[in-house]
Amino acid sequence: MAAQTTTPQEPAAVQSSISMRLNARLFLRMLGIFLGIDLLVCLLSLGCMAVWAESRAAGIAQLVTDRGIPTEEAAVWAQTGGYEVYALEREPQGWGGTVNLGAKWPEDAGTSLRSFQFDMSLLGPVHEARYIVELSGGGAPYAIALDISGPASIWLFALRILLLCELAALIIGIFQNAGLVKKSLRPLQDLATAASKLSSAAHDMSPEELRRLTGALDQINATHLDARIQVSGSQREVQSLAAAINAMLDRINEAYSSQMRFVSDASHELRTPIAVIQGYANLLDRWGKDDPDTRQEAIDAIRAEADSMKALIEQLLFLARGDNDAVHFEEKPLNLSALATEVVRESDMIDDVHTFELTAPEPVWVSGDEGLLKQCLRILTDNSLKYSPDGGKVTLTVASGGGNARISVQDEGQGIPEESLSHVFERFYRTDESRTRQTGGTGLGLAIAKWIAERHKGHFELLSRVGLGTRFTLVLPLIPSPKEENAE
Ligand code: ADP
Repeated sequence: MAAQTTTPQEPAAVQSSISMRLNARLFLRMLGIFLGIDLLVCLLSLGCMAVWAESRAAGIAQLVTDRGIPTEEAAVWAQTGGYEVYALEREPQGWGGTVNLGAKWPEDAGTSLRSFQFDMSLLGPVHEARYIVELSGGGAPYAIALDISGPASIWLFALRILLLCELAALIIGIFQNAGLVKKSLRPLQDLATAASKLSSAAHDMSPEELRRLTGALDQINATHLDARIQVSGSQREVQSLAAAINAMLDRINEAYSSQMRFVSDASHELRTPIAVIQGYANLLDRWGKDDPDTRQEAIDAIRAEADSMKALIEQLLFLARGDNDAVHFEEKPLNLSALATEVVRESDMIDDVHTFELTAPEPVWVSGDEGLLKQCLRILTDNSLKYSPDGGKVTLTVASGGGNARISVQDEGQGIPEESLSHVFERFYRTDESRTRQTGGTGLGLAIAKWIAERHKGHFELLSRVGLGTRFTLVLPLIPSPKEENAE
């Protein structure tokens, strides 16, 4: 056995990530600027300290030239003045041998090399900060070490304040930028949402509206509906916008093609009866004037073809109105069991070669249009009669359960081949078997039944086996009995 069920589709959601990327970029840019400022401040501070220490060291060097390197006792006194002078037992080391920071060094001081000596951390106190100038001193190298912990403490304090301000600016910046980026991206998001909405709306458009809409997009027109937007890069908003437009184009393309197919199938179906009528009109013209039998045969055939053409045109009109949502729909509570009883009674009156069975033990209530639901049941019952051999039994069963009302029409007929199960609800679809047998069907009955089911928020379940029979079950939302509702 094979079964087929129709289900509705869910729209896709639009997502966001470009704001995060822009935020991260703005944050990194601010961080870079702040680090640059910090580096500049540090270099400037060190430069100032070096200039100040250099002029002091030059004065001390002059003293050394005049009086020589201080004795141990004098060195202790010098330490209280914030500097130290001591002899070196090695060659001078450091940087800036050719640098002149504006100090006046004595002539015999020789080459002077500098270095900083720090013992401090960003969060702790300044333990030691010294500016050391090592001089060759004409053969007797010595060093002048200046205590710069005072200026270094001020510099560290200023650096801490600067870093705190920068941190605060970065944190505030994150929130401010997020708001700003979100605001500037809103039009893009709105566009994506609008395109998504358009995508679902496009499903209900007429070919003319579709062509007008598609004509608005450059390059893409009714003859090139298969063109699609290509997006490179990884920005999700732009990709979702392109995906929304492409999905819309897919649906427009599908709707447009199915409309075109419908028009061409309808013309094809109408061509056959017109050709038959033309043939019989010619026959009448040539021989029917004198021969009463030929005349009657032509009249009967023309009448039969006109009848089937009328039925086809009525079905086409129904589907066209259905597509435009222009079918009259009067909703009220309906008892499916009563409806099934009525359909069985009417079918039994016009068909005496099949037998009917009805199983409707209790009232089953649904909300819907009586005329449309009856038309739907008639389509199913007529098919069962058309595709069952004489003497076959057609069973209608009404039941309820799981919040649904179910009405099934089952026959013991030819059945539907498995490969045709997914197509029988398509417009103008007929199985090969029913085509060759010339049942007089148009292939539109089940398309109309499906439209009616969907209009009532229901669907079909189909079970069929070739040679054994077919069961169509219409599933509709169940409603409480109106009597029970009134009693409450
Ligand atoms: P038609 O006017 O040709 O009956 P429908 O849309 O009602 O058009 O049905 C589409 C096709 O589905 C039919 O041509 C037939 O091949 C198949 N079909 C529908 N109902 C039955 C059935 N009860 N038993 C066998 N085949 C069926």
